[in-house]
Amino acid sequence: MNLEQILIQKLGEIKKNNLYRQLRTLSKAQSKNTVIDGKEVLLFSSNSYLGLADNKEIKKKAVDAIRKYGTGSGGSRLTTGNFDLHMELEAKIAAFKRSDAAILFNCGYMANTGIIPALCNDEETVIFSDALNHASIVDGCRLSKAKTVIYAHNDIDDLREKIKEVRPKKGMIVTDGVFSMDGDIAELPKIVQLAKETRLAVMVDDAHATGVIGKTGRGTAEYFGLSHSDIDVMMGTLSKAIPSEGGFVCGSTNLCDYLRNSSRSFIFSTSISPATVASSIAALEYIAGHPERVTRLQNNIAYLNHSLERIGISSKSKTAIIPIIIGDEEKSLAAFYKLFEMGIFVPCIRYPTVKKGEARLRVTLMATHTHSDIDYLTECLKRALC
Ligand SMILES: *Cc1c(COP(=O)(O)O)cnc(C)c1O
Repeated sequence: MNLEQILIQKLGEIKKNNLYRQLRTLSKAQSKNTVIDGKEVLLFSSNSYLGLADNKEIKKKAVDAIRKYGTGSGGSRLTTGNFDLHMELEAKIAAFKRSDAAILFNCGYMANTGIIPALCNDEETVIFSDALNHASIVDGCRLSKAKTVIYAHNDIDDLREKIKEVRPKKGMIVTDGVFSMDGDIAELPKIVQLAKETRLAVMVDDAHATGVIGKTGRGTAEYFGLSHSDIDVMMGTLSKAIPSEGGFVCGSTNLCDYLRNSSRSFIFSTSISPATVASSIAALEYIAGHPERVTRLQNNIAYLNHSLERIGISSKSKTAIIPIIIGDEEKSLAAFYKLFEMGIFVPCIRYPTVKKGEARLRVTLMATHTHSDIDYLTECLKRALC
């Protein structure tokens, strides 16, 4: 078989299993009302949880940055691509996350695939990784020389057993702060305690927690009242509630210094463009100055949980991610299309993002949704699922 024939066969298999994925195209900014594939929809799918992707103040700072600095950054951070803006952003991230220092990566995916191999770079090291960790953590583990041990999802007893079994000389526990497809929150206080007892480091991916949980949206540490020093490696993205692009790591000055010197995805890639960096700076300032945005999002989460209970769907999510598990791939896809016809966009998540037979509609909320938007969603869900 030649390559074309192989591809046709493989695509045929994907389609037969209802796992074929298509690009949907937006032709307007990503706010709660947008246009997808030419149709006006109410969006319940955005990671722009605070609804800031089309914010005037933030856009203005991005445009100003283009005027002053141009478009591309023209080099990697360690050559000629390190602008005063990058330094300012790192300081802002550290302040926002209340850590000593921060280091910027080009995206969250590159952060995870850069941090883990740099920190866990010999065979004596063991990584303990939650079964539902994000794919970028999984890939970071694959790139590392360390042994990876998977523990059952958010199951601290299983984690403790596995650590006892393996008896690592050194290593790290890594977990999502908020799990991206289930919307639940890691049992961090217990993980931190266990890590202290076993002298392991703790790494948390706060992609879906930053801007969402904790009183002022600082993420899982604030949510649990943990100190920044309890979490050795706090990772996050600038692409979700912060409506820009980039990944980051917060931690000690030594941690950031070491990653700057050893993380391949940091070293071997051109730095983020000035306009994007400026957007991140502006967004962090905006969020710090508008904690009521975070409160609005948290109120929406509580309101949707209540509304779902009324139509017989149990939901206890404390985060902006509210999965409605359907199971069957074909049924989930049918519900997705019904909702789309009614002007609601909620994505259908299937294998390989989640396990086979665990297909789901994944609702995400924004601070800008109104109660009547959420009422309409509930009404449409009721119609689509019955
Ligand atoms: C989105 C996401 C990432 C990747 O971040 P990008 O900036 O989009 O590359 C990493 N981890 C988790 C948990 C995510 O949800």
